[in-house]
Amino acid sequence: MPYCKQCANSRLFGSSKVPPVAPTANGSISGMMGNFDVNGQIESIISMGADKKTLIAARVTPKEYFDLCLACYSQNVGWQEDDE
Ligand SMILES: [Zn+2]
Repeated sequence: MPYCKQCANSRLFGSSKVPPVAPTANGSISGMMGNFDVNGQIESIISMGADKKTLIAARVTPKEYFDLCLACYSQNVGWQEDDE
């Protein structure tokens, strides 16, 4: 599961690889937002400009995409491998 090394957020991440289409009023800095559940599984992905292909790819390989903490905007995101 992803987690932020700065603020320990493990729920809400964006992707620096998917820039927002246009700067928005709410200050979004990613074209994609991923909600993770307590088990580190993707609960939902919200598109703010990301195309369908990117959304699907992000769901399949989240580690490749989610590298931005949306709680403190740090890119110091780590991934915890947990074998189930
Ligand atoms: Zn953070």
